[in-house]
Order: sequence, then structure tokens, then C-alpha cells
Amino acid sequence: MPKPRIEIDNNNFYPGTAKTIHLSLPDLYNLTPIHLPVHVICGKTQGPTLFVTAAIHGDEINGIEIIRRLLKKSGLRKMAGNLIAIPIVNVYGFLNQKRHLMDKRDLNRCFPGSPTGSIASILADIICTKILPHITHAIDLHTGSHHRFNLPQIRTNLDIEENQTLALAFNSPVILHSKYRDGSLREYVNEKGIPFLLYEAGEALRFDELSIRTGVNGILSVMSTLGMISAGKYHVKKFTPTISRESTWVRAPLSGIIRPLKKSGQKIIKGQTIAIIANPTCNKEYKLVSPVSGIIIGDNKLPLVHEGEALFHIASFETLTVVSEQLDNIQDAFDLSDDESIF
Ligand SMILES: [Zn+2]
Repeated sequence: MPKPRIEIDNNNFYPGTAKTIHLSLPDLYNLTPIHLPVHVICGKTQGPTLFVTAAIHGDEINGIEIIRRLLKKSGLRKMAGNLIAIPIVNVYGFLNQKRHLMDKRDLNRCFPGSPTGSIASILADIICTKILPHITHAIDLHTGSHHRFNLPQIRTNLDIEENQTLALAFNSPVILHSKYRDGSLREYVNEKGIPFLLYEAGEALRFDELSIRTGVNGILSVMSTLGMISAGKYHVKKFTPTISRESTWVRAPLSGIIRPLKKSGQKIIKGQTIAIIANPTCNKEYKLVSPVSGIIIGDNKLPLVHEGEALFHIASFETLTVVSEQLDNIQDAFDLSDDESIF
């Protein structure tokens, strides 16, 4: 018997094999058992171990589909290195179609967690103690929250050189420099010296085909950059992402109903009207103008807004035209009218 390359929770993984294991989590209160499915593909030869996660926020489901399509790719057992994927990290939130766990905790503020803490903390501890010791690189898949749509984008700390290399390899239209959030998986993994990308694309509880295809292509592209697979075999598409180190949220200056005049992916110039906010009980209208020039990388889809609500996320770039062209290239390359079905 050959020596196992990876051992997780008394499960051995051997070169050239793929297996799914189910780690035990705390039961529901009616004692329904809950498990965390972990997919492990052990490549034929030695190499990096890429960890891909989705649905740390339980209603952010685009990443679940990205991982499902990724694992369907043939020949991954022949790769160099290993792929560990957890498509539904926050199993409890996913069951309830909610971002948080039952106790309203945000799992992505609970890392590294504790075996004697809250249910979110127990889940975070299982990831940190059983999985993270095996990984060399990580990608965490998210979507916008609370009716907000995000243009496909990588968020990472670009001050770490290896993060920047991976971010460029991912081929998303936009890379946004972003610092850590306390207690996030990203903070914990990066502090361990492991390169980490956060992919934000689409909207909670919705599938967005462009976000899904950009995500699958991005992960395969990172794997080819790491020398795990050949880009040619998996038809990896190459684009030139544009980096932004500065972004601004445009918030509602008053409450009302909103009619957006711009959406994610579009260019906006400082002083240009970006939306009309109206009083729903009379004809009063307010023109909301953009305080900055840039590309809209996130926008609110709910037309009912309270004063102070985040409406548009605008990233600043040196040249706006380049970003617009790249977005067109990406949309053309993925030809969303073709018949590659979601299921
Ligand atoms: Zn999220």
C-alpha cells in the first residue's frame, strides 16, 4: 500500500485518487445530524494544495455552483498537487437560506474559532484544525449581500506579492486591494503566510452565469499558474485584470424609492447622475450624482432604500476605457447564449 499524501480526520488520501468525506458538525436541535462535505482530489504527483471554499455566508450560492462545475472537470486526478474543496461551509445558513448561522453570528468573523465556543466558532475551528494544516493556497468564493450585486472581482491584500500574482492569474475583470476583516478566514490564512484570494461575484440567493463562468475559469487559471494543470487542456481563457487600490460607496442621502440609471460594469463620471430617488407618496424627485469617477463594481438591486444605505460601489482606475474593454472581452469570450446549462 502506498503512503497516504494527506490525512484528514482519520481518512487517508492517496496520489491519483478523489474522495468526499463528511466531517461531523453539531446536530440540529431536533437531533438531525449535520455534516460538512469535504472533497479531496489528490493529484498523481506532488505539488501545491489549493483550498477552495464557498458559502461561508450561507445564502451566497454562486460559489457552490462554481465548485460543482470545477469538480466535474475530467482528469484532475492526474494533476500535480491536490485540491481540497468545501462547497457549503456554512451548512446551517445554507439550510435556512440565510447569510448567518442560527444564532445570527457571521461565520466569517469567527476564525480561528474554538471547539468550546459558539456553533460558528466550532465550525471555524474544524476548518482551521483539520483542513488548513494541509493547504498551500486558498480561494474563498462570495457574492454581494442584502440585495447587492457584485461585478466579478478579486479582493486581496496586494501588499503581499504572492496574493498579487494569484490575483492576476485569476483573470477577473477587476482586482480590488483590500485589507483584512477581523476574524475572517482571509485574515487567519494570510497571517499563516498562505496566499489567499477572495472572489466576489453576483448576488446572494441567485445564480449569475457570467460570475459562475468567470469563477470556474479563474480557479483553473490559478491552478495552471501554480503548475497543477495545463491551461490548454482545460481551455483556460486569459484576460488582463485591472487593479484598483481605491473604491467608494455611494450612499442614499435620503429615504425613498430608487430608479438606478447605471449598473455594475458601467463607467460613471464625477458629477454624472447615477440614480433618481423619489418620494413614493408625491412627485418629489432627487437626482443622485456620483462623487467620483470610476467603474461601478457593485450595485443595490432593491428599489426601496433608507437614508445611509449603500447603493453603488465605485472603483477608481487610472484608465476607465481599459476596464470597459476588458468587460466586453470577457462577456464575448464566455458567450452566455451558448448551451452550457447550469445543471
Ligand atoms: Zn460573503
